[in-house]
Amino acid sequence: MSKVELRTPELFRERCFVGGNWLDAGSHETLTVDNPATGEVIGRVPNFDGQDTAQAIAQAEQAFRTWRATTATERSNVLWRWHQLLEEHVDDLAAIITLEQGKPLAEAKGEVQYASAFIKWFAEEARRSYGETIPATKPNQHIIVTRQPVGVCAAITPWNFPAAMITRKAGAALAAGCTIVIKPAEATPFTALALAYLAQQAGIPSGVINVITGAPEEIGAVLTASPTVRKLSFTGSTAVGRKLMAQCAQNIQKLSLELGGNAPFIVFDDADLDRAVQGLMASKFRNTGQTCVCANRVLVQSSVHDAFVEKLTEAMKTLTLGNGFHEDVNQSALINYAAVEKVVRHYNDAIGQGAQRVAGVAPDGSNGSYVAPVLITGVTPPMQMCQEETFGPLVGIMRFETEEEAIRIANDTPYGLAAYFYSRDVHRVWRVADALESGMVGINDGALSNPAAPFGGVKASGLGREGSRHGMQEYQELKYLCMGGE
Ligand code: ADP
Repeated sequence: MSKVELRTPELFRERCFVGGNWLDAGSHETLTVDNPATGEVIGRVPNFDGQDTAQAIAQAEQAFRTWRATTATERSNVLWRWHQLLEEHVDDLAAIITLEQGKPLAEAKGEVQYASAFIKWFAEEARRSYGETIPATKPNQHIIVTRQPVGVCAAITPWNFPAAMITRKAGAALAAGCTIVIKPAEATPFTALALAYLAQQAGIPSGVINVITGAPEEIGAVLTASPTVRKLSFTGSTAVGRKLMAQCAQNIQKLSLELGGNAPFIVFDDADLDRAVQGLMASKFRNTGQTCVCANRVLVQSSVHDAFVEKLTEAMKTLTLGNGFHEDVNQSALINYAAVEKVVRHYNDAIGQGAQRVAGVAPDGSNGSYVAPVLITGVTPPMQMCQEETFGPLVGIMRFETEEEAIRIANDTPYGLAAYFYSRDVHRVWRVADALESGMVGINDGALSNPAAPFGGVKASGLGREGSRHGMQEYQELKYLCMGGE
């Protein structure tokens, strides 16, 4: 590992975790992982294949037999211990995240705390997995509904939140009594392996959590073809989600999908503009623009357009681009050069169609994986940056005249994950909140992620919810018991 000293070096593991064992690549090749800030190689993980995946599933199946029979209190206690270990190792875990993912260290620490909060939440939620009794339709009959774990689960996770996207799946699965096989993103396996190491230290039994690294398509094919795997939870692109959904049809596997977004961020003429600017800064520049809930289309009502742009230009002066390990840096390298090229393509397309740069540096791909924040105005819906997620620090402002127009533009997308708007008119707040086609709406708030709330999208942004009590229910089946009587 390059240039980062961990207090607990055991957290950095170049092996997969299957059935409680740490497996090296053996006869397999390895996958190289690099630091996006420098391009340096930071380590290697096994390039496991379908057969290894089948072994992990078998281990998870074996562990399920005993894990499902544990009491909610036992599961809660061990999850609580895992949560405590995540908190104790926050600095090391954050360093691993920054090393492999690039995000500024302060944000990486924030992510570890957010990730750990999911484990705490589900440790608590495990105890509240209540069933129902329903008034019977016949004399002396009893209708009872219980919740049972779905079984062995699979999780396929992305690189942008290498810790939190795992804990919000694994925490819910384990709380429900399921076991899990996790395939982290190729770019960020070390965070996943560190989490697994701490899960083992916390006393989570062997086989309950398994982490395998390797060829995504092959691993995904085996996870979805296995009749043992009863549920897949995927976070990533809509294209891959669509493919996995089709694959899950073979065995009618339960499915949660958290896919791409195209979040509108609407500033109405009655908004508190300072607050709106603050919210946009939080929503747009978190993880250097690489989150699926980042504001992607900023709509500002005509009469406040110029004032908003002026305040935003000022606020953007606080952004500092650099290596995520350096103090004061709050914008860092994008995950790879393809990510840079997408920002450049969106920028050139917008400028080519008449948008104007008002702040920041024109992105041209000449600074490796780094892209400086840039603000443009005169953006219109047909531009590429309004059709696709930019996933980078490019802000484009669209001007609108009426509330109806803003809602129409906001909903004119196949996606529906997050939406944001700023207004102080209580009637407008309800109207707009009701009208927006999205799973989550930030009203006068640019940061909506929270373990207590149901995270998820509508339309092509996905299926199911993560976090909250609904998040655990995704890993449970309802069982209806009908007791006849005399
Ligand atoms: P991104 O574009 O953000 O990298 P992806 O959807 O490509 O998003 O990746 C998200 C996760 O899905 C990663 O863990 C990746 O390895 C995995 N993945 C990519 N393609 C496939 C596939 N065909 N089958 C299963 N998993 C896949």
